[in-house]
Amino acid sequence: TVLADQIAAGEVIERPASVVKELVENAIDAGSHEIDILVAEAGLKSIEVIDDGDGIAADQLELAFHRHATSKITDRKDLFKVHSLGFRGEALPSIASIADVEMVTSTGGEGQVIHIAGGKVISQKPAEARRGTDITVKDLFYNVPARLKYLKSLNTELSKIVDIVNRLALGHPQIQISLTHNNRELMRTAGRGDLRQVIGSIYGMNKAGKMLPIDSADADFKVSGYVSLPELTRASRNYMTILLNGRYIKNYQLTKAIIAGYGSKLMVGRYPVAVVNLEMDPLLVDVNVHPTKQEVRISKEPQLSTIISTAIQEQLSQQNL
Ligand code: ADP
Ligand code: MG
Repeated sequence: TVLADQIAAGEVIERPASVVKELVENAIDAGSHEIDILVAEAGLKSIEVIDDGDGIAADQLELAFHRHATSKITDRKDLFKVHSLGFRGEALPSIASIADVEMVTSTGGEGQVIHIAGGKVISQKPAEARRGTDITVKDLFYNVPARLKYLKSLNTELSKIVDIVNRLALGHPQIQISLTHNNRELMRTAGRGDLRQVIGSIYGMNKAGKMLPIDSADADFKVSGYVSLPELTRASRNYMTILLNGRYIKNYQLTKAIIAGYGSKLMVGRYPVAVVNLEMDPLLVDVNVHPTKQEVRISKEPQLSTIISTAIQEQLSQQNL
């Protein structure tokens, strides 16, 4: 029902950035090579995500907007096992219950366009489209005034969008991703699979030049990525990104391990820029945490922390720092 969808939306869709996250994850899951994100008024006016992925077949289109109609997996334990980012089939129905949604999609042949608002299908008909999906979400929260009130300033909402797009881009260097706000392009990655290039697109090429590669492994974990020279620091922890099997996570202990790798080379209150990729058996990941909250626990965390710290420490000492 629309009401059930709106209740689910309360959990999944907190703010415009949540919509961006869900739509871009869907585009990634669809095997896209290029994803363009166009946002107006920090997403409150409109959010459009254009991809060149698999598209949705005409007879599946309405179904995709039904709750738990995921074409992906059913067991949340599979979360870190499979490559797909979505798995609950909740995002599209949730979004469509609290906004005006138009989706144009094609699996290669003739396309379809569906228009849904307030959870009700208004129309669906054939449309000219190239392979892929173009979804536009307008007037988010128009029927949930309480949620609108809770939102922060447009600048804050936009910064949350930028932040989530950055993390998704860092996790997917092989996909060309662009973000445009009010017709101004804020970011575009090259999609060449080069993580340093993505870091450059996000933090600036100068800064990417001050990044050192790390690479380390033991029987359980593989750690790779880039960490900044100690001279490139920030007054915020937000420039450290941890990706676990391709998925952006938040983890206090592992963030501490990155900082510990620098030892006394960091000034108090300063933090490095870092992108740390972790690969491990999904069985070592505790997914017993709300999936959209991005916080996960990992077994053998102290062991992993040591690998991260040591990898950074060794790389810095090789530079005679
Ligand atoms: P989930 O991602 O958890 O499966 P969603 O509600 O996000 O659930 O999407 C529902 C379904 O719609 C997906 O399983 C997928 O089959 C289809 N879908 C959504 N967005 C796209 C897209 N951009 N390209 C192709 N298929 C999509
Ligand atoms: Mg999804």
